[in-house]
Formats: sequence, structure tokens, C-alpha cells
Amino acid sequence: MKVLKFGGSSVANSENIKKVLAIVAKASQKEKVAVVVSAFGKTTNNLLAGASLALSDVKKAKENLSEVEDLHNQIVEDLIPNNKTTVIDKVTSLFDNLYSIYEGVFLLQELSDKTLAKISSFGERLSSYIIANAANETLDATHKESRELIITNDDFLNAQVNFERSNKNIEAFFKENKHQVTLLGGFISANDKGETTTLGRGGSDFSAAIYAAALNTNELQIWTDVPGMFTANPRVVKQAYAISEISYEEAMELSHFGAKVLYPPTIQPALRKEIPIRIKNTFEPENVGTLICKNPKNGNEVKGISHIEDISLITLEGGGMIGIPGFSKRLFATLSVAKINVVFITQASSEHSICVGVYENDALKAQELLNETFSIEIDRKKIQPIHVENNLAIIAVVGESMKNYQGLSGQMFSALGKNNVNVRAIAQGSSEKNISAVINKYDAKKALNTLHEQFFEEKTKQLNLFVTGVGNVGERFLAQLEQQKSFLKKNLKLKIRVIGLSNSRKMVFNNSGIDLKNWKEALENGEPTSLDNFYNEVKKANHRNSVFIDNTANQAVSEVYEKYLRDSISVVTCNKIACASNYDNYKTLKEVSRKYNADFLFETNVGAGLPIIDTLKNLINSGDRVHKIQAVLSGSLNFVFNNFNEKSTFHNVVAQAQKEGFTEPDPKIDLSGVDVARKILILARESGYQLELEDIANNSFLTEESLSTTNNDDFYASLTKNEVHFQQIFKDANDKNCRLKYVAEFVDGKANVGLQHIASDHPFYNLEGSDNIVLFFTDRYPENPLIIKGAGAGADVTASGIFADVIRIANK
Ligand code: ADP
Ligand code: ASP
Ligand code: MG
Repeated sequence: MKVLKFGGSSVANSENIKKVLAIVAKASQKEKVAVVVSAFGKTTNNLLAGASLALSDVKKAKENLSEVEDLHNQIVEDLIPNNKTTVIDKVTSLFDNLYSIYEGVFLLQELSDKTLAKISSFGERLSSYIIANAANETLDATHKESRELIITNDDFLNAQVNFERSNKNIEAFFKENKHQVTLLGGFISANDKGETTTLGRGGSDFSAAIYAAALNTNELQIWTDVPGMFTANPRVVKQAYAISEISYEEAMELSHFGAKVLYPPTIQPALRKEIPIRIKNTFEPENVGTLICKNPKNGNEVKGISHIEDISLITLEGGGMIGIPGFSKRLFATLSVAKINVVFITQASSEHSICVGVYENDALKAQELLNETFSIEIDRKKIQPIHVENNLAIIAVVGESMKNYQGLSGQMFSALGKNNVNVRAIAQGSSEKNISAVINKYDAKKALNTLHEQFFEEKTKQLNLFVTGVGNVGERFLAQLEQQKSFLKKNLKLKIRVIGLSNSRKMVFNNSGIDLKNWKEALENGEPTSLDNFYNEVKKANHRNSVFIDNTANQAVSEVYEKYLRDSISVVTCNKIACASNYDNYKTLKEVSRKYNADFLFETNVGAGLPIIDTLKNLINSGDRVHKIQAVLSGSLNFVFNNFNEKSTFHNVVAQAQKEGFTEPDPKIDLSGVDVARKILILARESGYQLELEDIANNSFLTEESLSTTNNDDFYASLTKNEVHFQQIFKDANDKNCRLKYVAEFVDGKANVGLQHIASDHPFYNLEGSDNIVLFFTDRYPENPLIIKGAGAGADVTASGIFADVIRIANK
């Protein structure tokens, strides 16, 4: 014999119930089955909400109830063609009874637990009766009233089962019962006076286990709306998957800590008789689902992660507790008498404080009662008044074989820390089946996803990008990302999503990732942007592995990096302003990045996509020291002087460079040498020297007139006006058979930038197009420098440099 239990969503409407009947038909071909059903869909919630409403507005409560009645009549209409009248009569009489009870609640202004149990029992009384009749249309089916079989104490809403009496009743009934299929309402029971009690919300699972254990069935099947018990709640963690086999104890821990798919008490009766529990999906019946059994096949050492929201922490604290026995006994006795469920306990070994987690609904009552219990000690200042902290959640990592592995809790807490999830309290059972942590409830989703990635997805890592600036570089970056998506997933096991995107006018967010094929449209339809709004949205999204990417050349954007880093959000930027700002600011950003474990990467600040800063970092980290740097670092200036001669005009060559994307949006920043000065400054700083921009000698080749312009038009006009000046510069070099290169030098702590005449035997002489070159002279490369050379400007190579920084973060 088997017991099959179908939950609320499995019997939410006629369509679904047809699926249930097909499953029952198949299961009952070979053996007898007992079928336990929940109330239809959300009926229990609706009945209970109606009961509360009846206290104040009985008319509205009855109106709502008539909608519930309609649902039931519709199902009868759809599924019971033959025996309809009898069934409708019975349904009507049950609802008439309910309307009267609502009326009574209103008149008496009384809604005790006893009445609530009675009201909520109608859901399962109706559903089991209707489905029994629907099944009877094609199968040999009968209905049995659960309240005649399962006997409990007087705890109306959370009744404790008298197993001795219930088992006897169940055995006796099934001994006589000859029908192939027996329909029973879950959740409902009765006390020894025959009054209706209920087994707690979600209790139909438990009813099914009680029947299975009493009847010693070979299996208990729980049919629901997901194909098994998942590694985490699939509504919160998209990557969660069904666990194939799990032990009773592990399943109990997971369900106790919030995996709603199974009501926690369900396991006990099944475990006692070692009846395997199979969790299956009504809407995907071929899927094997999850098997809960005594000796599951070896799986991951961490089996699952679950969480409970709306937790409060209650702290009993004070020097007066140390060494004096009895405090915890009084604490727990107080909570237990008031039937307040303790979800979590920790005690510091100094015995200076005890901390318990309770459901938020119970917190106020617990606080009042405990302040009363300890009033004398509090008055005498031996302990402090009871402290309550709300808006918390518990996350629990569960797995029986965790105890055999070292470092799991280390992994857990470092993953949480890396993602800026603050842990308020920790508990680990000595059986080590479970490590749980109390966190802010607003971090729960991020924490679950972080831990899921840590323990179940080592193979794929997800990075969440927030990109600001979609000009030349930004646009190319997004295109490259889209193009490489499948490669990254397949070869690097990396899933990179752009969650937020902004330009100077608009911003758009999509928590499942913006479609990079249509980002322009999405951005156009976005909201007005501001740096603050963007930051607030990033905070609100609260994703793990978040990276803020700055593709602008904007001062204000560069000023927000610190805020992101302090939230453990990495920053990748091609904007040079921050690293070239005053030294203290540069240093602060580096320190904050280290402290909050968030990367701050700016490879593209020098040489676009060339691996200059990364190479320098590797040299320094491995103990090398830089003495001298010589470099041509301006792709734009290189392009300009490679193309400028007596046959062209300086104005046209600069305009061409800008058109091809080789200059900053403001070309004067390149031509004045400021951009090169910033780059050599950054290289000097990365080499370990403390330097300011003003310390760099800048011998500009522009005239005073060009330097003093304030916009692009005036700047270009000044170039035309000073053409003779530029032609002279060219001629002076050409006469000496030299080429013009804009060189940056750093020697013994001093730096300068300026135009130089380069002779044909110098490595800079043949530098083409917009190429950059850097010569590092170090302890290890004293005479023959380490040379890095290649394309050093352009949107594509800069975008690929940004991309490389993102990959560096992912690979850490
Ligand atoms: P039923 O009505 O069938 O009893 P429930 O709503 O009580 O179904 O339980 C199923 C739901 O439990 C799923 O839809 C899912 O949202 C939630 N859930 C929470 N944690 C888990 C988990 N670890 N595995 C599967 N489901 C989970
Ligand atoms: N119908 C009850 C509830 O919603 C019991 C159950 O579905 O398990 O709590
Ligand atoms: Mg349930």
C-alpha cells in the first residue's frame, strides 16, 4: 500500500485535479492507495482571513466566502457529471454552516483558537469529499473523515497527535475498508471530545505521514508544485536544483529551517518506520523527484541551504549572569510556558549573554515576559533589560557529512563576508548537520545565492555588472560581452550579467540581466538617472559578486568609487581621474579596496588594453623594484605625430584622430600632455612612489592660445590659427632625421612628459599608428628593459581591457 499526498496547488482547480486523478489511477492499478489532500488552492488562507474579517465586517466576509464557494461548485460541475446533485447539496450545506459560523463570530465577537480550527477545517473536509466523488466516477474510491481517525490533544491550531489511539483507529478502518482508493482530508483531526483540531499550517504532509506510518506502507509520496526538495528555495535561488537523495535528518533540518516543501513534523513518523518519502511534482509526474530515506546515495557534503525570514533576536545579557546557574533555565521556561517557539540559540562561553532567535510575531510578548521574569535582576542592575532586534533572517547550511570536511564554516562565512553580508549570530549543532547564521533579512536573498554558488555551483560563477557610460568604450564593451557570453559560460564557467546600465540621462535595471541585444531600447525607456539613484538601485538589488564599471571620463563618477568599495562592490574603470587625483585619495581607494575585499582595477588607465599595470603589479608583488620608466603612452599623440607632416594640417590630423576614437572626448586633454602626465603618474604610484600631478614637469608643445581655450570649437580654431607653429615643430625634427614622439619619463622618483626628437636607432622610432610602448628598467631588468608594446588607444582595445579586468575579478 502507498500513501499519496497532494498539496494546495496540486488541487487548486479542475484542470489540476484531473492531473491528480490520473496519477492516482496509475498508482492504484497495482495496490491500494490512501490519498491525502489539502484544501483547494488558497482556501485555508481565505477561510482564516474571512474569519478575522467577520469580526468587523461580516457582510464582506460572507461575500468573500461566496467566491470560495463558487470555486468549489465549479470543480463539482467540472469533475462530477454523474453524482452531481448529492455532492452539490452536501457542499451547499457545509458552506451554509460556514456562513453561520462567520455570523456567530460577528455576533459574539469571539474568535478563539477552537473556532479558528473549526473554520479552517472546512477546506480539507470539502476538498477530500469532492475529490473522492470525482475519483469515484472512474475508480473504486471512497471518502473517510480524518477527524474520526486522527486524535489529538486540545491544542486546537497546533494539535499534538495521540499516536496510540490514532494508529488503532487507522488500522481498524483500513482493515475493513475494501476500496482501492481512499480519500482523506489532510491537516484536520479531533480531540477526544470530538471537537475539531488542526495539525498546524502546512500540516497535510504530517497527516499523510501519520497514515503511512500507521499502515506501514512501502512509500509515502508528497506531490507538490516543484519536482522535489531543492538545494535552496527555487523561488529565491534560480540555480537551485532538486536533491536526488537525502537522509531523514537532513530533510528535517532543511524543513525546520524554512524549506516549506515539507512540513517539519512529517519526517518523524516516517523515520520511525523507515518509510521512504518521495517528493514529486504533480505537473511533471515522470520526474523522479527527491527520495528521503535512511541511507541516501552519497551526494554533496552540503545538501541544501534554507532560510527563515522574520526572525527576532532576544538577548539576555549582563555581568550578573556569570557563574550563576539557572538563568537559561528560567529563560527557556518562560518562553516554553508561553508556547513561544525558540528557533535558534547561542551562548557566549563567558556566559555573559544568551541569545535566542524567535519568530518576529512572538518577539514583543517574549520581551515583556522575560522582563517580568528577570525584573529583580534588572532592577538590581545585575542584567540589562531584555534587548530585541527585529528584521532578521536565519540561513542554515545543512548536510550530514559536513562534519567530515574541514573548513566548511570558513568557506561559508568568508563567502558571506566577501559579499558584505553582516552576520549577527552563529550556531552550529554539535552533530554538525547544520551551521546557521542570523543576518539582516534584506540580505537573505543575496546570502542564499552566495552560499548556493559557493557550495553547489563551483563550476559556474555569476558576476553582476552595473555599467555606467555607454559611449564609444561602453558600447563596445557591451558588444564584446554579448559576443563572448557563450564562450565564457562554456570555457570559464562564468555567467556575466549586466544588471544596471546608465548614461548621463537614463538608467535601467533588470535583476535577471538586461538583454544585451536590445540594451539601447531598454535604456531609452529607462528612468532619469543620477549618480545617487544609480547607487541606491545597486544597493537595493543587493547582488553578490557585484562590479561597478565606469566607462566615462567624468569627475563626479570617479568620486563615487569609494562608496561602492565600502559596500564590497568591486570597481573597474577606464576613467583616469580617480587614480590621478591627489595621492591621499588614490591611497584611500587602494586601502578601502583591500579592507572591504573589493577589487579596484584600472588597467585601461594606461595603454588601453595592454597589460601594463597588471605586469607592473606582478613585478612589484614578487619583490622587484622600478628605477626608470620610459614610455610613449598617448595613442592619440602618437597617431597625430605619425600622420602629421608638411603635406597635412595639424587641425585635420587631430580631427581625424578624434573621429577614429583615439582621443578623449576633449582632445585638449591629450594634446596638452595632461593625459600622458596622468598615466606616468599612475605608473609611478603603482611602482610604489608617492607623487602628485603637479610634480610632473609638462613641457607642452601647444601655444598659450590653444592651452587657454575652454571648448572644443575654440580649441580646433586655435590649431588652425597656429598651423605655422606646428609646421615648425615638424621641420625641426625632420631636419635632424628624427621623428616626433611624445615621451613620458620617470627616473629616480621624478617624472616629466614632453615632445622629443627620436632618432632612428631608438626603440620608439618605429612606433606605428596609435601604438604605445613602455620600457620598465628594474632590479631584474637593469639594462635591457621589460618592454610592452601594442595598440594603446581605441574603443575596442579599451573595452577589451575593461573586459580583462572583469575576468580578473571573476577568476579570483
Ligand atoms: P503544497 O501546497 O504542495 O504543500 P507548499 O507551498 O507547502 O506546497 O511547498 C512547496 C513550495 O515550497 C515550493 O513551491 C517552494 O516555493 C517552497 N520551497 C521552499 N524551500 C524549498 C526547497 N528547498 N525545495 C523545494 N521547495 C521549496
Ligand atoms: N491547507 C492547510 C494549509 O494551507 C494544510 C496544508 O495544505 O498542508 O496550511
Ligand atoms: Mg505544504
